[in-house]
Amino acid sequence: MRWTKSLIPTLKEDPAEAEAVSHRLMVRAGLVRQLAAGIYVHLPLGQRVMDKINAIIREEMNRIGGQEITMPVLHPAELWQQTGRWAAIGDEMFRLHDRGKREMCLGMTHEEVIAWLAAREIHSYRDLPQTWYQIQTKLRDEARPKSGVLRTREFLMKDSYTLDRDEAGLDKSYQLHKEAYCRILERCGLAFHVVESDPGMMGGAGAHEFMAPSDAGEDEIAHCDRCGYSANVELAGSRPRNPTFPDWTLEEIATPNAGTIEEVCALLKIDPALTIKSLLLVTKDGPLLALVRGDQHLHEKKLSIVAGEFRPAHRDEIRSHLGAEAGSIGPVGATLPTIADESLRVGRYVVGANKDGFHLRGVVPGTHFQPRWADIHHARSGDGCPRCDADLRIERVIEVGNIFKLGTKYSVSLKAMYLNEAGEERPIVMGSYGIGPARIAAAAIEQHHDQLGIVWPEAIAPYQVHLLPVNMRDDKMVELAEAIYTQFQGGRVEVLYDDRDERPGVKFKDADLLGLPLRLTIGSRALKEGVVELKARKTGEELRIPPSEAVPRTKALLSRPAK
Ligand code: ATP
Ligand code: MG
Repeated sequence: MRWTKSLIPTLKEDPAEAEAVSHRLMVRAGLVRQLAAGIYVHLPLGQRVMDKINAIIREEMNRIGGQEITMPVLHPAELWQQTGRWAAIGDEMFRLHDRGKREMCLGMTHEEVIAWLAAREIHSYRDLPQTWYQIQTKLRDEARPKSGVLRTREFLMKDSYTLDRDEAGLDKSYQLHKEAYCRILERCGLAFHVVESDPGMMGGAGAHEFMAPSDAGEDEIAHCDRCGYSANVELAGSRPRNPTFPDWTLEEIATPNAGTIEEVCALLKIDPALTIKSLLLVTKDGPLLALVRGDQHLHEKKLSIVAGEFRPAHRDEIRSHLGAEAGSIGPVGATLPTIADESLRVGRYVVGANKDGFHLRGVVPGTHFQPRWADIHHARSGDGCPRCDADLRIERVIEVGNIFKLGTKYSVSLKAMYLNEAGEERPIVMGSYGIGPARIAAAAIEQHHDQLGIVWPEAIAPYQVHLLPVNMRDDKMVELAEAIYTQFQGGRVEVLYDDRDERPGVKFKDADLLGLPLRLTIGSRALKEGVVELKARKTGEELRIPPSEAVPRTKALLSRPAK
């Protein structure tokens, strides 16, 4: 493609509103433009990247037996009402009325439509298993659209759905998807972790996320380099390291004016890990005392899994249940249901005495009070891996893909049934799998760039080669450039030919910014000494070769067969 015939609006300056590197570079390199908050136009180069990613996704989906379909973006409300998600999902769903005043919504995902389709088209065990997928626009009124195309309100998703007879079938379909997702991300040049995740609003029995390490990410995972354990911090387990416990015996000590953990520790000159943080909460069953070690944080989501929804108790509730201010409460002698974090199973601690201005020292959980045990703390860097006890690392990541074992939640509510071999009616067992091509593109840029611009992984680069004659006013040079351009086209190499009459500095800067894998520069040497320069964007390595070898040598350096 000739640059002069293309829309490649590169920018010299960073856009003011862009924080994430990928956002900055996608705008500067002329890949995207923002129409409104979280709504983007993909320009020609951006579109080529999306096409390449989608082609890889299609190949891998087809390879595991996926059949491509296209489902509508516009859905009748009834489908979503039948599964309960019309009410369960809040403002994230775009809702509207048609001219007949019927309620509709814009599809944010397609489990409902799939179950509707399966209810009509799948009849017997002989029709199963099935894998259906689409690459389709999703609409979600995200609370905080940001970071360029990483979180938008309208975006493309490849979503697939598997239909199986039973759990064993689902396990197989799920495993195939897991492998396909790994191949997709590897082929797109991403570094990633596959982590256990919380099934959340999808419901269901198990889920994994595909997480690309990047500071621009909104998620965090706990990862063990030794055994490979990886989980979203939303549910990651960990074994906090034990402090050295002093040989305390149980006694009451005065702690005047010390309410917070910091104040108590400063007064007693002890490590916060030797204290217990006691929090009074109110659940629908009444008050509940939650305990975590003083140096740790209560993980509200983990606690809500074991205790249901809760709120912090008010000051007067704390006094009426425990007889003291929040800073002096504790589990000893309390007659409330108590949940203690697993890490408190060992050790002797300082806890509030349920008496203003006093604490107890030497309290042994399990001896001096009897809690229910649960994992309710946040995993931190340096905690022990729950599997092998090596140090965990907390890493910031971008979620690029997500897979769920749905089970029968949707098939039961939408009556997607089949007849088994005995002629009995059974609900179809479903799985659901999503991956975001724009997030893959942005994550690839986050992981592959330098201070000059993007460094595209070859498989998803908008073009493979950047052909750059430095002076378009030199007829001989143009003649050579045109000849090489024609040869590249004949050899089916994807080439961007910078035929602009621009200063060399401008052209080189843009080439670095665009980040195509190989750059073939035709400079004055080409004519004087008979050499052109072939440079790899990634390594900076440069070869000087005769113009007649330019095309075969370039092709030899490309790992991907040209389309
Ligand atoms: P997140 O937790 O980041 O909101 P999600 O769990 O809602 O993601 P899914 O519903 O599982 O995401 O969607 C599957 C994939 O679609 C995600 O892994 C991501 O690649 C992509 N995706 C989801 N939401 C967006 C968005 N707002 N903008 C761009 N891509 C998105
Ligand atoms: Mg979301």
